[in-house]
Amino acid sequence: METINKPIIIIGAGYAGLSLALFLKKAGIPSTVFEAYPDVKNIGGGIGLAPNGINILQQLGLNEKVINTGKVVDYNNFRNYKGKFLARIKPNAIKKFGQPFVMISRAVLHQILYQEAIEQGIEIKFQKRLSHIHESAGDITAIFDDESSFEGPLIIGADGIHSTTRKIIFNNAFPEQYTGFYGAGGFVQRSTVEQYLGLHDHDALNLSFGLSGFFGFSFQTVDELTWWCSLELSEQDAKQTLTNFSAGTLKNKLVADYKDFYQPVPQLIANSGHIIKTVMYDMPSLPEWYKGKTILIGDAAHAVSPTSGLGASLALEDAMILAKLLRRYTTNEYSKAFFDFQSVRKPRTEKVRADANKHNIDKKIHSPISAWFRDTMMSLFLKLFGLGAVDWKYNYKVEWGD
Ligand SMILES: Cc1cc2nc3c(=O)[nH]c(=O)nc-3n(C[C@H](O)[C@H](O)[C@H](O)COP(=O)(O)OP(=O)(O)OC[C@H]3O[C@@H](n4cnc5c(N)ncnc54)[C@H](O)[C@@H]3O)c2cc1C
Repeated sequence: METINKPIIIIGAGYAGLSLALFLKKAGIPSTVFEAYPDVKNIGGGIGLAPNGINILQQLGLNEKVINTGKVVDYNNFRNYKGKFLARIKPNAIKKFGQPFVMISRAVLHQILYQEAIEQGIEIKFQKRLSHIHESAGDITAIFDDESSFEGPLIIGADGIHSTTRKIIFNNAFPEQYTGFYGAGGFVQRSTVEQYLGLHDHDALNLSFGLSGFFGFSFQTVDELTWWCSLELSEQDAKQTLTNFSAGTLKNKLVADYKDFYQPVPQLIANSGHIIKTVMYDMPSLPEWYKGKTILIGDAAHAVSPTSGLGASLALEDAMILAKLLRRYTTNEYSKAFFDFQSVRKPRTEKVRADANKHNIDKKIHSPISAWFRDTMMSLFLKLFGLGAVDWKYNYKVEWGD
């Protein structure tokens, strides 16, 4: 049986696109990655990689590199905005799921995947922004905005939440959806905030819930912390705030928004050099993830709210599972692989999305009374059940050899 032997076209060199190229290579299937930007992204805040994501990286031999470059999280600290502990929980991730939860810089994770792809001889073409797709009885053609084109047996759209591939194949029918929040984040050197850190801040993901905003922080290397926050606002106001405010003005606004939070929160914001900002979207359920010879993976197919902390891990899971399926079939049988992929992945990603949206309620604007109620219930629930309720997200394991 002859598997696919002409390079598959992958649109987007994000986590989904790069890891798919690596898994396809492992399966003996060639691919070429096309990325809109001139280089792999060197921007973005910190990212939390869940044990299920690290398990996928293990299959690429990259888990140790990620664990050693980032910072393993040993505890989850839940606090109210005044710093009172609601719960401090040890997730025991290695024991339960085989891998830890790791905080790492988004750009560093990107570099690890990119370097591996380069070392394995995977072709990545930069400054190739997909603009059209032409499908015929034979191959399918990706056309880029510099008017160049590339033919291949299949196109995999791994081009993120605002996916052009999705817009093209479904005629703009399924737009991304505003989650109700905008977010910001930054990096801080340990030495600048050391004096404000508490005894239990060093080994944990520190999550605190206020009246009008959520705030999280963690170490992402031994010497550097990353923080992130989300604030509820209408989409129009969120867009205006992030477009019109200069970096300095936004920083001052955030310092004011979080002035009542316990230290080190205000100091983390005040001491950040560069503020990263995002209007937060997710992707409502698509009826199909593929059309003809094109399929979507990662955020392009099923972006979950960024507050879930699982989007990157889901993108990695997608990459491995699609590559496993494509190695099973010949070129002409691609539609079987697409069908199986969607059948396996859709229920899981939709469950994660629904769960993320349920938890976003905790991050909305609250009156002092409803915040007190939220905090009391959260504390009770966490003390009674720990983090057991989230095990289903992290214990998703797939082996390459299955
Ligand atoms: C603020 C924020 C915080 C987050 N925190 C976490 C977290 O802690 N943990 C977690 O697991 N997830 C987190 N996520 C989600 C995570 O970042 C995404 O789920 C993940 O990046 C999806 O990977 P992807 O490869 O599908 O898409 P992307 O990372 O968006 O990559 C898509 C790539 O396609 C390229 N591209 C776009 N259009 C085109 C085109 N027309 N032609 C060619 N290339 C194109 C882009 O330049 C990009 O390189 C967060 C997201 C945000 C916004």
